[in-house]
Amino acid sequence: MAKIETVGVLGAGTMGNGIAQVFSQAGRKVFVVDSFPGALEKAKAGIDRSVRKLAEKAGKDPAAEAAAVAGRLTFGPDVSAFEGCDLVVEAIIEDPAAKADAFRKIDAVAPAHAVLASNTSSISITRIAAATKRPEKVIGMHFMNPVPLMKLVEIVRGHLTSAETASAVVEASKAVGKIPVEASDFPGFVSNRILMPMINEAIFCLHEGVATREAIDEVMKLGMNHPIGPLALADLIGNDVCLAILEVLQRDLGEDKYRPCPLLRRMVAAGLLGRKSGRGFYEYAQK
Ligand code: NAD
Repeated sequence: MAKIETVGVLGAGTMGNGIAQVFSQAGRKVFVVDSFPGALEKAKAGIDRSVRKLAEKAGKDPAAEAAAVAGRLTFGPDVSAFEGCDLVVEAIIEDPAAKADAFRKIDAVAPAHAVLASNTSSISITRIAAATKRPEKVIGMHFMNPVPLMKLVEIVRGHLTSAETASAVVEASKAVGKIPVEASDFPGFVSNRILMPMINEAIFCLHEGVATREAIDEVMKLGMNHPIGPLALADLIGNDVCLAILEVLQRDLGEDKYRPCPLLRRMVAAGLLGRKSGRGFYEYAQK
């Protein structure tokens, strides 16, 4: 497998822009595609802000760092931008049909040697791979939020993923300063199979009046040494994303213990998605 020099990212939301940023910071040429034009503008501004902040912390020149990262990034609305990519990472909505459709389109334009990765939080990689003519080159590359700060990449092989593909994404993850850890293709893998029931239970606690939002988060921070409380974490992840993951866990593992809390459903229906919408369990100043 050739070295990964050029990377495509589909979906420029919370995760896509972080993934694009880390590959660009590591010197890769990156093509970012989103079907919603507003998302591209927001991603550009978000990456610029994040790179400057990290540069300041590291004692580097923020303007020079931001210019170097921006110089390696290209934004556009069409997947044809992926025609020269060695790796494409998909980070669109957590919906099996939407992902299958996206992989069909990426498969049609990406070069034959390209690895196609999904940043899915819970959906079967085997199922996503089946939408392509190269299932041996499809893999899960599950980055954590916020991508520039979090070390882990959960690597998930589908039933037909080759060892060569797995070693290519392990190397690509290390090359951008991340630590890859492998998990099998089960709904939610390791990360969300453990994390989402905790977040869901915290929402049930709020729903049933066990404690206030602040008290629930304080108990988990002070008592369990978590850096962030579960309700604040749900807002960071996106309440729509949490709901979609819980639905996959409940449906695909066939267990009602993953049933999403009715309060979570109501909040998503009301557009209270968390940080990205300005309000979730807490309120946020819009950027
Ligand atoms: P998001 O809602 O912030 O962004 C999704 C982006 O995809 C939007 O900009 C939207 O316009 C775009 N999009 C949707 N359908 C598209 C299509 N067909 N073609 C092109 N662009 C399309 O979502 P997110 O939080 O960045 O999540 C993206 C993926 O990453 C999901 O699979 C999610 O489960 C996973 N993930 C999320 C987190 C998290 O903390 N938010 C962490 C790890 C993994």
